[in-house]
Amino acid sequence: SAVLVLKGVERRYQQGSKTLVILNGAEFELKRGETVALVAPSGAGKSTLLHTAGLLERPDAGEVFLNGRACGRLGDDDRTAIRRNDVGFVYQFHHLLPEFSALENVMMPQLVHGLLPSQAEERALQLLDYMKIGKRAHHRPSELSGGEQQRVAIARAVANAPLLLLADEPTGNLDPTTASYVFDALEALVRHSGLSAMIATHNHDLAARMDRRVTLVDGKIAPL
Ligand code: ADP
Ligand code: ADP
Repeated sequence: SAVLVLKGVERRYQQGSKTLVILNGAEFELKRGETVALVAPSGAGKSTLLHTAGLLERPDAGEVFLNGRACGRLGDDDRTAIRRNDVGFVYQFHHLLPEFSALENVMMPQLVHGLLPSQAEERALQLLDYMKIGKRAHHRPSELSGGEQQRVAIARAVANAPLLLLADEPTGNLDPTTASYVFDALEALVRHSGLSAMIATHNHDLAARMDRRVTLVDGKIAPL
């Protein structure tokens, strides 16, 4: 069954008197456990697509289905609840909370979700171990390297066991060797958890490791 379905999704931005049409009838289906790389030039609409799929932005037309549920016309509270339960985001920059340790950053979404601190800590430690950064659990983000920060951000994104991981250039800020190691860990975690993932990247070597590659052409999603 499909975790994410886009049907006729349109997204436009108004820039002064000009209308930028970013998504123009985008069709897409991501199956459970499937990994897809999104490879397209800057400005093509990758972030717009990920934000629309992850319910951060509303389509102007068309529909976004998450786990079979039509989400485009739901109210903001429902969309936020679904996003918190079902979607994990990773960005090019980690957005970790600077005053908290790696461990606390990964515990946080679980505590918000209502888990007991002991349960949240156990899962956070497992995830940090899985990302091969368990030894750095008690360090703050500023005490970690860029690659380590991204490992923590990835662990945090999957802390609530989402159905769907959306990553926007998750290794775009790292040197190629570090990027490759971080991507290894990301890929292992995704496959181990049976997560579905859509990962925007400029790196063709990393994209080649996904099940499938797509691009954006004239606002539509096309195979690459
Ligand atoms: P990518 O992630 O592929 O670089 P984006 O989705 O960020 O592309 O942006 C696609 C286009 O839409 C760009 O031209 C960008 O300037 C424009 N855009 C993105 N967000 C907004 C916004 N909130 N308002 C106006 N224009 C936007
Ligand atoms: P908030 O913290 O704003 O209430 P949520 O807790 O629902 O939002 O956030 C769910 C996910 O969406 C998190 O991974 C968060 O990083 C991401 N997110 C929330 N708001 C934005 C935004 N405006 N831009 C990008 N990502 C966001």
